[in-house]
Amino acid sequence: LSDRLESTWKKLRGQDKISESNIKDAVREVRRALLEADVSLQVVKDFVSAVETNAQGAAVIAGVRPDQQFIEIVHNELVRVMGGDNAPLASAATAPTVILMAGLQGTGKTTATAKLALHLRKENRSTLLVATDVYRPAAIDQLLTLGRQIDVPVFELGTDANPVEIARQGVAKAKADGINTVIIDTAGRLQIDESMMAELAQIKETVQPHEVLLVVDAMTGQEAASLTETFHSQIGITGAILTKMDGDTRGGAALSVRQISGQPIKFIGVGEKVEALQPFYPDRMASRILGMGDVLTLVEKAQEEVDLADAEKMQEKILSAKFDFTDFLKQTRMLKNMGSLGGIMKMLPGMGKISDEQLQQGEKQLKRAEAMIGSMTVAERKNPELLSGSPSRRRRVARGAGYAESDVSKLVSDFQKMRSLMQQMGQGRFPGMGGMPGM
Ligand code: GDP
Ligand code: MG
Repeated sequence: LSDRLESTWKKLRGQDKISESNIKDAVREVRRALLEADVSLQVVKDFVSAVETNAQGAAVIAGVRPDQQFIEIVHNELVRVMGGDNAPLASAATAPTVILMAGLQGTGKTTATAKLALHLRKENRSTLLVATDVYRPAAIDQLLTLGRQIDVPVFELGTDANPVEIARQGVAKAKADGINTVIIDTAGRLQIDESMMAELAQIKETVQPHEVLLVVDAMTGQEAASLTETFHSQIGITGAILTKMDGDTRGGAALSVRQISGQPIKFIGVGEKVEALQPFYPDRMASRILGMGDVLTLVEKAQEEVDLADAEKMQEKILSAKFDFTDFLKQTRMLKNMGSLGGIMKMLPGMGKISDEQLQQGEKQLKRAEAMIGSMTVAERKNPELLSGSPSRRRRVARGAGYAESDVSKLVSDFQKMRSLMQQMGQGRFPGMGGMPGM
């Protein structure tokens, strides 16, 4: 997709206005690309017509480059269709909040049940998991194992009990035990079938959940549309979890699910591990669907703000013994030029698991470090050993920066540790990296 859009944007570049004819071109490309990203046909049609309208309306805006304007319109419309903002999980006024999981077999319901419990713990919400998949003995064991793994209780009545009854008793138990949220894992089938739907409907009727989450495998692509249609019309969903987003899918299913149900996607699953759950952010997904990944944005930003030669010199220094506090400060400022640390970390692949708190923590620490380095003499910056050997120097720096002497000690020792690690990398002595070419 990105290649196609790129060439279309190139065509648009250098013109004052978006004209009707070059919108047509671009629109055709977007349509084709979305279909390739596995968005369902109807959803593509609706989406494209909205973009077309917006683009033509925006053609009169002066002073904006047409290619940029077009990118923005496509992107904005994708974000809008997918709900704008992240939608949080329901939280009932009187506990327990009841969450019912629905979806076909193998989509990741049971895994997502455990993932949600772990997520809710971070919000200080206790959970009880309820195992109603009585059709396969292994299904109950799977939930029990996951529950043990994350230290969350699992309610089950074996494989002979009635799923509706298990759900009812599970919710009653959570109420009695003062548990905040019950998550009911259900049985899926490989295909939609009437008995599965009837059972789900009965469970829903009995426990009156606050949240019915459809678990959709992102790799299903086009089928996500009809699946959503069926579950939403027969059961009524309040949201969805898109699993297996760690695969190479563009995420077209996200657009389909949202457009067809009108309900938000609340989380995405990004791996088999229980920690691999992230809130769903429409803007990030829009970029992914468009193929202009956040990583590209990062590269562009970096190119704009950082002098490449400077960066290379810095890299050499980092890998040699010469790296000192002056360089550290300089590097911190380079990072800042590129935007907030949080913004940068989130754009890097594989960094998704870092929470907002952790990022804020990291930014805070950088600020503290900057303040302390600011209070050091030039000699101390060049030679941190001066500080590790002298409590009076440390006290002076601490006073100047408004921190404790122990903070300065920690900064210096952390810095020394980091530097020796980097030197080892530079000399190829880093564990496991020694044999790597170029290290
Ligand atoms: P269920 O039948 O709907 O309960 O599905 P399960 O929770 O048992 O998951 C089916 C398979 O998909 C298991 O092998 C899971 O480890 C795997 N799985 C679930 N979620 C994800 C995900 O987000 N990413 C990846 N790669 N695998 C997942
Ligand atoms: Mg299951």
